[in-house]
Amino acid sequence: QPSGVGNVDGEWAPAGIDTSVAHSARMYDYWIGGKDNFAADRAMGDAFVAAIPSIRTMARENRAFMHRVVRYLTGSAGIRQFLDLGTGIPTRPNVHEIAQVIAPQTRVAYVDHDPIVLTHARALMVSGTEGQTVYLDADMRDPGRILADPELTATLDLEQPVGLLLIAILMLVADADDPWEKVATLLDALPSGSYVAITHPGQEFDPEAMAGVAAAAGQGGMTLVPRVRDDVTRFFGDWELVEPGVVPVMAWRPDGEPPVDPNAAYYWSGLARKP
Ligand code: SAH
Repeated sequence: QPSGVGNVDGEWAPAGIDTSVAHSARMYDYWIGGKDNFAADRAMGDAFVAAIPSIRTMARENRAFMHRVVRYLTGSAGIRQFLDLGTGIPTRPNVHEIAQVIAPQTRVAYVDHDPIVLTHARALMVSGTEGQTVYLDADMRDPGRILADPELTATLDLEQPVGLLLIAILMLVADADDPWEKVATLLDALPSGSYVAITHPGQEFDPEAMAGVAAAAGQGGMTLVPRVRDDVTRFFGDWELVEPGVVPVMAWRPDGEPPVDPNAAYYWSGLARKP
C-alpha cells in the first residue's frame, strides 16, 4: 500500500481528499468515463443524469469543443501559450497534447483548485521536450494571485498573446463572487492578440432541466449556475467574437458535417480576440 493512501468504501483515495462530498471535477470525470470518482460523485452525477439524461454526451461535446478551439488557436491563430483555468482531471488528450501536435513549442499553464487534480499534476506536466507546462493549485476567484504566480510567469510570457481557456468552469462560480469581474481582471492582464474561449451551461436550452440540475447541485453543497446567453456573452467584454459568435457548443465550427440538432448539448460557447 503506497503511503498517504487510504481505503474509502473499498476504493483507494489519496490522503487529504474528502470523498464523502461530491466534487465537480470527479463528477465530470465520471460522466466522461474516467476512473477518478467516488460514490458521492457518482450519486450526484446520477442525480444530474436524472434531470438531463443526455448529460454525459453533453460533457463529451464540451470536451470536443476544447479540442476544436485549441486546434484553431494553435493552427489558424498562431497562439503558442495557453492558460487553462479549471483544467479538470487529466483526460487525454489534454490541452498541451493537442497543441503540441501542431506546434511542439507551445507552453501551457494549468490551474485548478480541486486537490484531486493536484494529485494528477504530473500527468499534466509530461510535456514535449520543447514546450513547457506548469500546474498551479489556485482559485480563479483570485485572478491577481494566478497572474502574479512566479511559476506561471516563468512559463507564460504575458507580453505575448495568450489563449485563455475557461471551459466549463464559470458555472461553478456564484454570482455573489462576481465571475464577470474576475474574468475582466484576467482579460485586462493579457496583451492584444490574445484570445478567450468559454463554454457555459445555458439556461434557455431547457429551463426545467437546468433548474433540476442546479437544485441537485445545491443539495450536495455544490454551486452550479446555468446562465442565459446574454450573461455568457458579457464575459467576453469588448473583445471581438470570432465567427460564429456565442452559439450552442455543437454549432461552434464543427468538424465535418454540421450537427442535425445543435441544441442537443445545453452549453453556450464562444471565442473572442483582444483587439
Ligand atoms: N475544463 C475541463 C474540466 C471542466 S470541470 C473540461 O472542460 O473538460 C470544472 C473544473 O473547474 C473542475 O476541475 C473544478 O475543480 C474546477 N474549478 C471549479 N471552480 C474553480 C475555481 N474557483 N478555481 C479553480 N478551479 C475551479
